[in-house]
Amino acid sequence: MGKLNERHALVTGGGSGIGRAIAESLMSAGARVTVTGRRLEALQSVSGANAVAMDVTDETSVIEGIDAAREAFGPVQICIANAGIAEGASLARTDAQMWRRIMATNLDGAFHTIRACLPDMDDWGRVIAVSSIAGLKGLKGASAYTASKHGMIGLIRALAADHLGRGVTFNALCPGYVDTAIVTDNTSRIMARTGMSEADARDVMIGQNAHRRLIEVDEVADAAIWLCSDGARSVNGQAIQIAGGQY
Ligand code: NDP
Repeated sequence: MGKLNERHALVTGGGSGIGRAIAESLMSAGARVTVTGRRLEALQSVSGANAVAMDVTDETSVIEGIDAAREAFGPVQICIANAGIAEGASLARTDAQMWRRIMATNLDGAFHTIRACLPDMDDWGRVIAVSSIAGLKGLKGASAYTASKHGMIGLIRALAADHLGRGVTFNALCPGYVDTAIVTDNTSRIMARTGMSEADARDVMIGQNAHRRLIEVDEVADAAIWLCSDGARSVNGQAIQIAGGQY
């Protein structure tokens, strides 16, 4: 048994990318893990995890999904609010539908998920929001995404202040560009908008990471595992960069 001693962890967006890496690392550390997302097939491919389909933009879906997770593995003691979408656009090209879509997924989604899990955390709990370096600085050409990721950090800091002195901590992870579907999609969008080659389009993102490389999903997962450990029990209300010191 690993050091997380069969604690129940729920990871939104756990079927792919960063969420999947966190889910797999949590299982390696001994946790029982529920992965959630809209695509059940992707979730079911996470070996050893409990797969629950839910849409984080819909509060009823989240409440029902987390109830189903509890039925399988008991109270949720680790909540990883990771589900998100990244659509970059200047404000002029951000219509109200795009703004709402990004806010509904990234910010409302974290609110719905954390609010539904929190009653399970009595004297021990870990809440981790996967924000972004865009939660700490303005990301060029991505006003809605930047606002949503800043909002997630505000939520985490307020919750940390509200729950001081208990064994529950609230932190945010703030990665730079990570090698997942989001970067692949961004590459296609940059190519379509500018006519750049794929290599040049990827370089636009790589060039923004301080180490001039894409970050690996395991680097984010390792930080999440540390935040879940007893060694990190005094780390609370923090927004931790995983971006090579970019900002
Ligand atoms: P992925 O696209 O692989 O992961 C996003 C996950 O979110 C998917 O598993 C998706 O599952 C889920 N998701 C999206 N919308 C919803 C919804 N409405 N309801 C439920 N689940 C949803 O990309 P990443 O792993 O990169 O992204 C994970 C998080 O990391 C995001 O919050 C992103 O903003 C953040 N991040 C990513 C960076 C990067 O460069 N990759 C950098 C900084 C932060 P499904 O489609 O099945 O619903």
